[in-house]
Formats: sequence, C-alpha cells, structure tokens
Amino acid sequence: MKYPEFLDPLETASREFLNDLQDNAIGAMCRHAQDYAPLIRQKCAEAGVDARDVTSVKAFREIWPFIDKDDIRIFRDTHNDVGGGTSVTIPGLTVSMGTTSGTTGDPTPIPNSRLGAPEIGYCRDLWGIGMRPGDYHVHMMFTYRGGHRRRLYNELGVSDIYLSMHPAELPRLVEASLRFRPTVMNNFASPFLHAMEQYIEKTGIDPVDVFSSYKGAIFGGEPLSDRMKAVVKSWGLELYETTSLGDVASTTDCRMHNGFHAYEDLAYIEAIDPITTDPVADGEIGELVVTTLVDRLCPLIRYRTGDLVVIDRAPCGCGRVHSRFKILGRATDQILVEGRSILPREIMGIVENHSETRHGLFQIIRRDREMPELSIRIGYDPERLTGRADALKARLHDDIAGQIGVRTVIELVEEAELLKLGPPHKIPRVTKK
Ligand SMILES: [Zn+2]
Repeated sequence: MKYPEFLDPLETASREFLNDLQDNAIGAMCRHAQDYAPLIRQKCAEAGVDARDVTSVKAFREIWPFIDKDDIRIFRDTHNDVGGGTSVTIPGLTVSMGTTSGTTGDPTPIPNSRLGAPEIGYCRDLWGIGMRPGDYHVHMMFTYRGGHRRRLYNELGVSDIYLSMHPAELPRLVEASLRFRPTVMNNFASPFLHAMEQYIEKTGIDPVDVFSSYKGAIFGGEPLSDRMKAVVKSWGLELYETTSLGDVASTTDCRMHNGFHAYEDLAYIEAIDPITTDPVADGEIGELVVTTLVDRLCPLIRYRTGDLVVIDRAPCGCGRVHSRFKILGRATDQILVEGRSILPREIMGIVENHSETRHGLFQIIRRDREMPELSIRIGYDPERLTGRADALKARLHDDIAGQIGVRTVIELVEEAELLKLGPPHKIPRVTKK
C-alpha cells in the first residue's frame, strides 16, 4: 500500500491558505469563548471588547486582552470554578476529564473532546516519523492524566502497547520491542533512559537489535543532556522532541530537527515583549502567546505561556509551511545586560564544558530584569580541581564573558552548597541574591 507522505493535506497548505483559514476561524472561536468561558467573558468586559469585532487576525491582535496562568488560578479560587473559567463541558463532546501536568502549579482539570487538538497534532507527527496503519506504537507515560485520548491512534489503524514509565517495565519493553517490532516509542524521558542504560549494562542485551524497528523515539518533559542524546543515538534511535503548545495543542520537531512545529490550523501563535506586551517580530525573542482555533471545550484565547521563544514562519525543509519555534527559557528567568538578553540555557553549555563544573550547577543573580552585569554563582566539584580555585574562576570568567560578550562577575562555591537548594541538577536557575 502506497501512502501519502503527509497524513493531512493541511500540513503542506500554503501561507496564504493558512492566513485565510486563521482569519476565518479566529472570530468564531472568540465568540464561542466570550459566550461560554466565564474568565474570557470577564476579561472582554473589562477591556470593553466584543468578539463580533474580531473579523480577522489583525483585528484580533489590536483589541483582544491577554490572559495568563495567574488569571486562571485567581478565577478558580474566587469563583469555585475548577476549570479557572476557561473550560466548558459540552454534552456528547466531553468524553473524559483529564488534568494539566501541574509542573508549574496545581493540576487543573481539562475536559477532553472526541478529537483533541493534541491528538490531531500527534497523529501528524507520528505519521511524519514514519508510522503507518498496521504498525505498533509503544506508549509510555508518567501518568495517564490525559484520560481517554487515544481514539485517533486507533482510527489510524495503529495498535498501542501501553507501558508505565517505571524501571520495572524495562523487561516488558524489551520483550514487546522484539516480539512486535514497533515503529515509534513515546515518551522516552530521561529518568527512564537512565534506567534503560543501566539495564542494558546489567543484562548484556543488544540495544541496536532491540530497537532496530523503531523509526523514532519521542522525548519530552525536560531537556536531555548531550551525553544522553549520544547514548540513545548509539542504540540506533532517532530522537524527536515534543512539548505542549501552551496547553492548546501538542508540538513536535520534524525530521529536520530545527524547532517545534506549531500547526497553524489548530492554533494561532504570536510573540510579545513580556514587559510591554508589544508584538515582537518573527526571528526575535518574545513570550509565546497561543490561541486555540479548534478546541471548543477549552477555548484558551491569547494565553501567555511564560515561555521565551523565537518564531520562524519560513517554510521548513520537511515540506510544511506551518511555523516553527525554539524555546529559549522562561520569561521570569531572562535578564538584560547592556541591552543583551541572557537566559540560563545559554550559560549551561559553557559551564558544563569545564571538567570541574560539568554538572552545570549555577545560578544567575537577578534582582531586576535589567542588571548592570552578568553575575553568576557556579558550583564546582573540589575532587576534580587540579589547580587553584582562582585559576578555574578566571577560566570560567574568560569563557563566559567571551561568549556572552557582557561584563561578567563569577562567584565560585563548592557544589554541595548549591545542591542544598534542591535535588541534583534542579536548583533554581535565577536568584535575587
Ligand atoms: Zn519541518
């Protein structure tokens, strides 16, 4: 059977087509949200906005108010509304209740519809990786908080193999891989990968054989270290990264591995200055703002995600025109020194490159968004120190100041001091003092 390269013809729609589609869809979704989502209705009333005036994306950008996570939490707490005023249950459309992950706050209940935008996106992504009807798909999740949301996979003719993301499942993963020869594994997160690495060392199994049928392994949740990426590559697996598109859809990188694709028939995305909320041009750093174009159960409109991104709307080498974006960090972590934007992610690679500080433990001092200098506290491993600590400090200073290009002040402390602030590798990356 010869299948098309893309699951949905919309994936290769032209820029003009996508713009028209968004111009037509955005007003209807705004109207629905204003009518049925109490928080959106309240925000519109405060701003004196009427959804009937949203006749295009341009009109939308000129008048529509922003919402953020705090708005949703406050509405939830003051109105005894578990959905925070942003969700609607529609009989017959609401097939299950799930929740958000709660990574950056309390988990929020989310009604799931028959055809959720994340599912539509994932199906396109899985197809793009090479999954076809009749294939097996290994599905490992931290939790099944999404509820019943696997309908589309089944409609694709794909058989799911469900595993919990727990080291005790490793023998079952190996057996299922050898017996059913699945095409895609999702989600291959770092705690499980570390356990997999140890399991391979202990049992002596051949990972290249075990994983030989996989066309891709999807990971998400937290970034993988370069070392872990190299380990997975040595098993013969191609990694794809996935993340949530501000809770309105899913988004995964394509085979070009050059940013997350945001499907623009499912969501409208924009980038704004996190302080002034002025629009930011494509290619420049801004806070990601998302608007669903399809989800009538959770009509999140102009939702500020808190993520700093760079959006690229140029056509991608994979054949899709849908925009891509790269995540640089959280808006609350950004500092500006001499007008230059600096985020912890940029510092990480430089710090990890030095043997004594390879664990990448550091904190940026951020009293204000604008700082007179880049001030960093870096943790080192005393056992790896070969010369004097002063020499290491000078090396780090020259490396960071040279690459970032602003006045830099380094404070060196033993790793143990920073580790007291949290579990290993998860200390707060910015601090006021
Ligand atoms: Zn692409």
